[in-house]
Amino acid sequence: MEAIKDHSGLSSIPISIFEPKEISELKSYLRTNSCNKYRIGAGLSGVSGGAVPDQNEIFISLKKLNKISWFDKESGILVVEAGVTMSQIQQFTNESDWFFPVIPGSKDKATIGGMIACNGGGPFSLKYGKIDNFVLGLDLLSVKGQNIQVGGYSTKISQGINSKGIWIGSEGTLGFICSVVLRCIPPLRKLAYYRIATDKFSNVLKLVPKLLKSNPYLLEVAEKNALRFSSKAEEHVLWIATNRELSGNIDKMYRVTKHDKTILDERFNIGHNLQKYKPFIDLDVSFPLRYVNDAIIALKKLLVKSEIENIVFGHGGDGNYHIHIFQNNYGLNWENIQVEFDEIVSNYFGQISGEHGIGKVHKARFKKMLNNGDKKIYQSLKKALDADSQLPSLI
Ligand SMILES: Cc1cc2nc3c(=O)[nH]c(=O)nc-3n(C[C@H](O)[C@H](O)[C@H](O)COP(=O)(O)OP(=O)(O)OC[C@H]3O[C@@H](n4cnc5c(N)ncnc54)[C@H](O)[C@@H]3O)c2cc1C
Repeated sequence: MEAIKDHSGLSSIPISIFEPKEISELKSYLRTNSCNKYRIGAGLSGVSGGAVPDQNEIFISLKKLNKISWFDKESGILVVEAGVTMSQIQQFTNESDWFFPVIPGSKDKATIGGMIACNGGGPFSLKYGKIDNFVLGLDLLSVKGQNIQVGGYSTKISQGINSKGIWIGSEGTLGFICSVVLRCIPPLRKLAYYRIATDKFSNVLKLVPKLLKSNPYLLEVAEKNALRFSSKAEEHVLWIATNRELSGNIDKMYRVTKHDKTILDERFNIGHNLQKYKPFIDLDVSFPLRYVNDAIIALKKLLVKSEIENIVFGHGGDGNYHIHIFQNNYGLNWENIQVEFDEIVSNYFGQISGEHGIGKVHKARFKKMLNNGDKKIYQSLKKALDADSQLPSLI
């Protein structure tokens, strides 16, 4: 049997693999095999190892649950199975004159189930929010094969607690996301895309809050070091899309040029091309904008002091940066600085993941960082939905 691997660099051979084509097939499988240990996966584009099975687990892939089962052209509401990819959703909604604004860099592989399981986002999340903002309802299966329905088809629901919220970010540890009700938005009007370059990364960081009032639809950044994986430009860059002209009051030290949306390839090719370079860990930190500049500079200093090769790029407008650290001749060297790294994250009111999730890679850190309230709620959910611990746990 082939090893199962995602983009975290982890891989493993499970006991067996089950790949249902119908939700009913999954249901009867779960009902008749009631005490196995399972690992859920789909697109395997994750970077945190959440879908990589242990050797004592059965890998259940939901990527063949790939039907778009219902669409209301009038209201832009659609129902899709969990294995439909983000590209398929893009193409389908565009052809129907609607827009689904969550477009991850991994859109050709990432599935809607995986995106919901990780509460993923994309560049337009600055304007429209992450995937949680577009999920109206979910059809799920518990690990024992019982149907669970949460939410509905309405865009406004005020009926008790938001129980669909507990599944968003559950990373395959509470049950199976099988089918999803999504809302789209009307197509975007034409946007202007600007590339703004400068010679110091701290100047990119300083410009971000100043641009937030120009109604950005996306605001991405990358340091020069990261651009060696795409354009090889010898400068630090910020990309912004707005529906208005950028005001002329940007300081002269910034080189501003106007483009079409293909300029974003320079940003998104970084994520794709670095995959071929060296083993890495993706530290997907997220900070309140008030503190993000100081936090990123402090984290960068720590990595440089520790001689850990790194690059920084990400969703600047959201305060969500992907710091990739690469393996050197002595291994990843990460364990030695993890505590200090996470102290900086905490001191600046940050989070260890903005969109890529916890998985196996960040589990130990997450356990330490999770606050009491979130921990208690997660433990009670785990007890209620997976009492025999057949699925992995986030803590
Ligand atoms: C080059 C590159 C660019 C990327 N860009 C982005 C980006 O812009 N934004 C972003 O958010 N992420 C991005 N990612 C990360 C990744 O694509 C996302 O985390 C995505 O959500 C994973 O979806 P998947 O279908 O591949 O899930 P998998 O990798 O198969 O699984 C990920 C997790 O979800 C769980 N899971 C999957 N499907 C289900 C289901 N149906 N029910 C329950 N649990 C399930 C798994 O158990 C696992 O814990 C990128 C990754 C790469 C390699």
